[in-house]
Amino acid sequence: MSDTRVIGHFIAGQPDAGDGQRYSDVFDPALGLVQARVALASQTTVDTAVAAALAAFPAWSEQSALRRSRVLFKFKELLERHHEELARLITSEHGKVLSDAMGEVTRGIEIVEFACGAPNLMKTAYTDNIGGGIDNWNLRQALGVCVGITPFNFPVMVPLWMIPMALATGNTFVLKPSERDPSASLLMARLLKEAGLPDGVFNVVQGDKSAVDALLQHPDVEAISFVGSTPIAEYIHQQANQRGKRVQALGGAKNHMIVMPDADLDQAADALIGAAYGSAGERCMAISVAVAVGSVGDRLIEKLLPRIAALKVRNGLDPQAEMGPLVTAIHQAKVEGYIGKGAEEGAKLLVDGRGFKAQGAENGFYVGATLFDQVTPDMTIYKEEIFGPVLGIVRVPDFAAAVALVNAHEFGNGVSCFTSDGGIARSFARSIKAGMVGINVPIPVPMAWHSFGGWKRSLFGDHHAYGEEGIRFYTRYKSVMQRWPDSIDKGPEFNMPTAR
Ligand code: NAD
Repeated sequence: MSDTRVIGHFIAGQPDAGDGQRYSDVFDPALGLVQARVALASQTTVDTAVAAALAAFPAWSEQSALRRSRVLFKFKELLERHHEELARLITSEHGKVLSDAMGEVTRGIEIVEFACGAPNLMKTAYTDNIGGGIDNWNLRQALGVCVGITPFNFPVMVPLWMIPMALATGNTFVLKPSERDPSASLLMARLLKEAGLPDGVFNVVQGDKSAVDALLQHPDVEAISFVGSTPIAEYIHQQANQRGKRVQALGGAKNHMIVMPDADLDQAADALIGAAYGSAGERCMAISVAVAVGSVGDRLIEKLLPRIAALKVRNGLDPQAEMGPLVTAIHQAKVEGYIGKGAEEGAKLLVDGRGFKAQGAENGFYVGATLFDQVTPDMTIYKEEIFGPVLGIVRVPDFAAAVALVNAHEFGNGVSCFTSDGGIARSFARSIKAGMVGINVPIPVPMAWHSFGGWKRSLFGDHHAYGEEGIRFYTRYKSVMQRWPDSIDKGPEFNMPTAR
């Protein structure tokens, strides 16, 4: 074990091995092997990283937005140059197939592209002469040291929801990535440095709950962006609020796809296969419930079964692979536990992915694509997020019942409706209680300038991620009024000032 590779931190522009006290295993999920150990930051390491970010803040925040954007522009070029290297790191630690990992990196680069426009995005309103020689305008100013805490399922894209937005607006940053796939964050740190980012502006501390708690409690941390499961999101939100820190905490999901009787069922089935089983269901926008309206259920199942049988579940590095393993053996066991629970609670298990062995990778953490019919809202597999390749079909009589079902669920991240009826589509978009809506689009992840976030227990805080919401989250708004002595009347004024 002692010669196992060690993955460390990145602080003040340098790799940092940490204090050697605690480590966690990093697996190759396709083969089921430990490939490295990641250092888990202690309080001292967290303090060092926050101190580096705090020291870098005055100079970075005082740079012109244009100069900051130029660093990001260079970073974008470097991400493009290292696109495949990043994707390979993702696949080797997360397990998702390489083409999917390439797509993840692309979606991350798009946020960097958007953030390069920060000089324009930070432009604010100016009102000339509100009266009596006074002008009024606004400023958007950086917050200070911001922290990102990210989940395992998008080790490049989710950090890039935060990093370019925070840096472009003049903040400095400490990223605490998932301890399950920590390597991509270090490559991004290296590329930011190569792009000309001053040391200390961006730092990475690896770690678990201890590192997160140290960051939450740190008096010099101004804001926290979190993405992960709902219980932790709720905890982060509450802890940050208690300490007066700005916080956005994006949580878990249970995304429904309503299939109307007038939908093209081949298109709907293809969409369901990709959205339920892509990335082995480990996406917060994965579809895990198909809501079959009216008589659609049996016909939909007929379409799904051959597609599931044809799915190529393999090591993600295999160019033919369509679905890879789950991230860890613990997660694999959890997902298999849910499948058992679904069967016990009376759902009809049409395809059982438990015990799946991928050819040539028999020890990998695989679960095959799984399909349940006759799922009902009282079942555990309906209520809870499974985060694996498990799709459940709920049958409802009509559109109104479908909307009521979705709206009653505690999560409200993504949702989709397949239909060819414009009236239904419009009513769906307006009445559904979820943050991201797809009409004949199964995974409606908003583009970089449209902001990402759910409703209900899928997001705690007032701001969605990236886009204009990201600019708002990472800046404080200030109003300035100014006049000059020649326009000031003599004597004190006791009335509430009004425009004249
Ligand atoms: P997680 O909540 O277990 O971990 C997220 C982060 O929190 C990690 O950095 C982890 O180290 C840290 N963490 C874990 N336990 C902690 C604790 N007790 N106290 C403090 N910090 C802790 O989530 P995950 O398993 O890495 O990711 C999957 C989850 O993330 C799913 O629920 C998924 O829906 C969600 N997710 C949501 C979105 C979204 O945009 N809403 C996007 C991606 C993932």
